[in-house]
Amino acid sequence: MPRARLPALLLVLLTAIGACARGPAQDSGEPARGRAPAQEQIRARREPIPPPRGPASPRVETPRRRAGEGPLVVHFFDVGQGDAALILSPTGKSVLIDGGPPEAGEALARRVDALVDGPLDLVVLSHPHLDHLGGLTDVLERVGTRRFLDPGFDHPSEAYRDLLTFLADRGIEVRTPELAPQKPDEPVTVGLGGGASLTVLWPRRPVEPFLDTGRSDANANSIVARLTHGRVAVLFMGDAEKATEKHLLALGAPLKAQVLKVGHHGSKHASTKPFLARVQPEVAVISCGRGNEYGHPAKETLARLGSAGARVVRTDQVGEVRFTSDGERYTITPEPQARGSRPARNGTP
Ligand SMILES: [Zn+2]
Repeated sequence: MPRARLPALLLVLLTAIGACARGPAQDSGEPARGRAPAQEQIRARREPIPPPRGPASPRVETPRRRAGEGPLVVHFFDVGQGDAALILSPTGKSVLIDGGPPEAGEALARRVDALVDGPLDLVVLSHPHLDHLGGLTDVLERVGTRRFLDPGFDHPSEAYRDLLTFLADRGIEVRTPELAPQKPDEPVTVGLGGGASLTVLWPRRPVEPFLDTGRSDANANSIVARLTHGRVAVLFMGDAEKATEKHLLALGAPLKAQVLKVGHHGSKHASTKPFLARVQPEVAVISCGRGNEYGHPAKETLARLGSAGARVVRTDQVGEVRFTSDGERYTITPEPQARGSRPARNGTP
């Protein structure tokens, strides 16, 4: 399967990414692993990068607002038991993180189509489980994407194989975040324009191997990414649990974020006390289905989030949630206009 590395410090300015989302990519047709993206397709630009081993409070810079730039918006969709969130940058770039379970796909595709002009700039699959990837083909058939990023963690499920085949058939290049071995402290960062960027904190291959936890290693090696916009940050945890949290803490990763997209739908195995002490979330967004069979979110996790001072917002209770940032302040509110899908009992725990 053609798959390319997204090298550290190749800070992708999504405006420059090639426009052929629904047709074959210009450089498809041969294995792309190890090649630098073509200059005519991607223009590298340096964006502010949080210090990789810095203190709990990462350096932040206030974005310079230009004429025509809007706020940074994140839609945390109501996809039932699963995850899907759409980032819309101040300059209109779009990044979808996960695509919910299969039964949410049609509604999610309609919702994304209503929010995005043209194909998505990037799809990030946090990890290859069905409750995160199941709706992606519906979205990609309807909207398309220019790039696709996943952890590169091999998973034998039929659904993941089918998704990779779907992407290959359409010439959509699958990339994995990879650090430059000579610069292990410089994370992979995707510049989104208008002072917003998305920094991948985990995985850190090839500098470090995937985590081997004894629980779900697909969950443990979820892409953990920190979205920053001036003084505002949102931390996306995928389905990472305590082993990943502990490792990120040991690394001194810049975790502080006003908004935490809670790991693993609020599982009791995620959102540990030391981790929350570092993140210092003011709002905790939990994406889960009503009456889901996994008992998400766990009472213990809700208690830990409350003790950490975070206000919990749950998609199973309020539906879609909308986050808006101007780089200094943020708001987070239910999105009453959304028409989400609310399947409750499906997906991979
Ligand atoms: Zn999940």
